[in-house]
Amino acid sequence: MPEGDTVHQAAARLHRALAGQRLVATDFRVPAIATSDLAGQQVREVVARGKHLLLRTDAGLTLHSHLRMEGAWHLYRPGERWRGPGWQVRAVLRTRGWVAVGFRLGVCELLPTADERQVVGHLGPDVLGPDWDPAEAAGRLRADPARAIGSALLDQRNLAGVGNIWKSELCFLRGVDPWTPVGEAGDLEGMLGLLARMMRASLRGGGPQVTTGDTRRGRSLWVHGRAGQPCRRCGTLVRKADQESYDADRVAYWCPTCQPGPGPGGP
Ligand SMILES: [Zn+2]
Repeated sequence: MPEGDTVHQAAARLHRALAGQRLVATDFRVPAIATSDLAGQQVREVVARGKHLLLRTDAGLTLHSHLRMEGAWHLYRPGERWRGPGWQVRAVLRTRGWVAVGFRLGVCELLPTADERQVVGHLGPDVLGPDWDPAEAAGRLRADPARAIGSALLDQRNLAGVGNIWKSELCFLRGVDPWTPVGEAGDLEGMLGLLARMMRASLRGGGPQVTTGDTRRGRSLWVHGRAGQPCRRCGTLVRKADQESYDADRVAYWCPTCQPGPGPGGP
């Protein structure tokens, strides 16, 4: 699943290409809005809220999309060949200079901009947003002290933008087992401060997530995606297990030596 920094990067790219431009044609390939047509409307802005994308038009409409597990927005010049099969296309937005194509979008819907709270009002503070408030996020986490920290970090109602990669990497860097109860996870403000610094750096970097400082392929992360490989710090084999979250079961990666705690299986 794309992380918040990936979604914010996508929003920034779409905003640069489309903001201030008039839509000359639109094509929505999802049943609920298949007959909708935004042609003639001007794109005001494209913003990210957590992992949600909001494209607002001057007619007071918002196109709300969510990338879920494998979605992506591509930008093409008119006439350019698309890098993806047509049957995966959910939305096409054309201006004079650009064609924005949404592939495999988990959510693709239209609503009045005034009603955006219905789709993003539940979100906690966005780690990458102007509303980022680590004290508020820590308070929401602490409201359920028995919950596993890995599950709580992924719950977008606590804080918005964290996916599997940041969850696992943050827990490793703090030496916290992802199954540790929130109430025993130590300094949450310090943890969230590190998270925000890493995600903002990743947003500026514009590329894939790097937590080790080594951008070479296969060396960029401490534990995520490395089950069965030796920990880069201590050599213990990295473990992997499913961990519940509020909207889906997600996977956690951790080193049982660097992150001692109640995680399944033991070292
Ligand atoms: Zn280790």
